[in-house]
Amino acid sequence: MEGMVSVTNLVKTFTSKQETVTALDNVTVSTPPNRILTLLGPSGCGKTTLLRCIAGLESPDSGEIVIGGEVVWCKEKGISLPPERRGIGMVFQSYAIWPHMTVFGNVAYPLEVRKVPKHEIEQRVAKVLDLVQLSGFQNRPATKLSGGQQQRVALARALVAEPKVILFDEPLSNLDAKLRESTRQELRDFLSELAISAIYVTHDQVEALTIADEIAVMRNGRIVERGTPQDIYLRSNDPFVVDFIGRANFLEATLKGYQDEHHAVVECPLGTIVCSAPKGLSSGTKLTIYTRPESFEVVEESSPPVENEFEGTITSLLFAGEAYEAEISIGGAQVLAKLKFHAPLTKGDKVRLQVNREWCRALDPAKED
Ligand code: ATP
Repeated sequence: MEGMVSVTNLVKTFTSKQETVTALDNVTVSTPPNRILTLLGPSGCGKTTLLRCIAGLESPDSGEIVIGGEVVWCKEKGISLPPERRGIGMVFQSYAIWPHMTVFGNVAYPLEVRKVPKHEIEQRVAKVLDLVQLSGFQNRPATKLSGGQQQRVALARALVAEPKVILFDEPLSNLDAKLRESTRQELRDFLSELAISAIYVTHDQVEALTIADEIAVMRNGRIVERGTPQDIYLRSNDPFVVDFIGRANFLEATLKGYQDEHHAVVECPLGTIVCSAPKGLSSGTKLTIYTRPESFEVVEESSPPVENEFEGTITSLLFAGEAYEAEISIGGAQVLAKLKFHAPLTKGDKVRLQVNREWCRALDPAKED
């Protein structure tokens, strides 16, 4: 499919005198066409190596890489296209714009090396600068731009050659927190408008969740889970993924039985509750269940009581603007809850909480270490 990157069984090891590191351990992944795939994972999990192999800056040991339907790397077939023939644009953190050139010079460069006629270069640069909202900045020296504007120049330079796919490696990590947030939003808007395929590497979870159409979570050179941001944040049953992304309350539980194919009744410190659970476990199985802090709702006592309602005592409380962050003691367990509740709360208060069965999930015992 046009604009799609497909990586199959990719292996990459780095060997030095002291050791051999398996940076990519049989990775198979493809980008959704015209969508943003984010590679997310802790430092050293292989994100950059995967991106560099796709870009042609690193040579894998085995496997295959296809971009836009064309095999760009495959050892067995003897194919190894250089980066400039892979139809990619790159925005890397270290791939900074050239300070001695103007904005125009920076953006025009990829077309000049391809010997595109001058009048066409002018038209294409103008179009792409318009897109990143830098029209009128053509003659500005690159150093006389803000960090966010420099990042937009880098994006314009990546876009000008009309690549099939754009590769981003931590493109916002040099920006301060506030600018990073606004540039992230802009970037997301540009990419959606362009309907271009992109692979975006980050170790920042919020960045991954907000920018991605799909996320592939990596660990130790492997992809451990793939899904939409909502799937990854709210519906994962992989202990590593749940722990790595955001905050979660983990509770020990015992399975009593199933209510339907996807929901089980468990006994845990919150009481007897219904949660989403992997299929086919036997009664009595020891499980770990989790809830996100945002999953709790403060409710009035209902009669008859509704599912997954319990009472707790606030043991510590932080007012964090849009919500309270409360530590709540329930049945001997401590849970962290973000409570959107407008009546004032105080430490020591008793609160009634409810959690929807979809936002209370059992981890897959087969994936626990
Ligand atoms: P980070 O978020 O810190 O950039 P990453 O997920 O991008 O990490 P990689 O840079 O891909 O991780 O590294 C994966 C593994 O390969 C790490 O153990 C790293 O030390 C190793 N590695 C990467 N490049 C080289 C190299 N040129 N020589 C030796 N080992 C390398």
